[in-house]
Amino acid sequence: MSKTIKKIGVLTSGGDAPGMNAAIRSVVRTCAFHGIECIGIYRGYQGMIEGDFKEMGPRSVNNIINKGGTILKSARSKEFTTPEGRKKAFDNLTKVGVDALVVIGGDGSFTGAEIFNNEFGFPVMGIPGTIDNDIFGTSHTLGYDTALNTVIECIDKIRDTASSHNRLFFVEVMGRDAGHIALNAGIGAGAEEILIPEEDLGLDRLLESLQKSKASGKSSSIVVVAEGDKMGKNVFELKDYIESHLPEYDIRVSVLGHMQRGGAPSCFDRVLASRLGVKAVESILEGKSNFMVGILKDEVTLTPLEQAIKGHYPIDRELLRVSDIMST
Ligand code: ATP
Repeated sequence: MSKTIKKIGVLTSGGDAPGMNAAIRSVVRTCAFHGIECIGIYRGYQGMIEGDFKEMGPRSVNNIINKGGTILKSARSKEFTTPEGRKKAFDNLTKVGVDALVVIGGDGSFTGAEIFNNEFGFPVMGIPGTIDNDIFGTSHTLGYDTALNTVIECIDKIRDTASSHNRLFFVEVMGRDAGHIALNAGIGAGAEEILIPEEDLGLDRLLESLQKSKASGKSSSIVVVAEGDKMGKNVFELKDYIESHLPEYDIRVSVLGHMQRGGAPSCFDRVLASRLGVKAVESILEGKSNFMVGILKDEVTLTPLEQAIKGHYPIDRELLRVSDIMST
């Protein structure tokens, strides 16, 4: 039987994502609901090492559900990757009586949490917060839905220019290892082609497709490119390549960049964050540890951290077919 939990620490780590604040709010309020204390840890693991803590009551998280970023700040901590750093962090948590930790972040943050748990037997629970949606054990990570909405809004605007000037636009979106954003936002924004890390479309097929669409009467096109697409060319090299083979196209590149990580979370992300925060705290109170809370088929689930770290949520192959059909 695990020891009684009286105080839970919460932190955000790695890249920020919309919905992190809603998750912090949910963790804080679920603690209050169950009559236990909650400590906010600033700047992720670095704040844990430096003892940068703040008590958080239910009113401390007023008016943050609608805010992007994270009120607890996020950081990447080199020191936490060393045994000495983690020992300092453990000593600090013990000093203030924290009994368990909720880590909101990506797979790197979960790796740190798992190592910390293995070393000190310290209860940890992960909440997936990253726009890339690249974590196994959840169909949606916090921030992903908001990022999709941001991307389609941007592409809608780019389309106005593309169609007014008969241009071809290459739009680069985030996703070094995962094409979820490109694939879903690409379909949602009506892209002509979508290039993702999971699939090598091949330059010849891309050329062929663009030639076909020109012949079929399309005068402007949008190609969505994930950062880590498999053709091994960055979006500017891709533009040069297509231009050299299809000089009739007037091509422009737009790299959406960090704007995809910001902004007010969508309703979906706010609800998801609220559900995951409740599940994280209540699972800890049930004596569970070393899991990630996630959502699968609209049910809140627990996945061992080890699996969440190692795996990737696969892209939906049916969407590839839908995308192909839509570009007819
Ligand atoms: P994102 O998906 O946005 O990159 P992430 O959680 O994967 O988020 P990382 O920078 O990979 O972001 O990890 C965040 C922090 O987790 C690191 O700065 C480090 O403190 C900790 N961490 C990552 N890997 C390890 C590890 N192997 N051992 C200990 N701590 C780690």
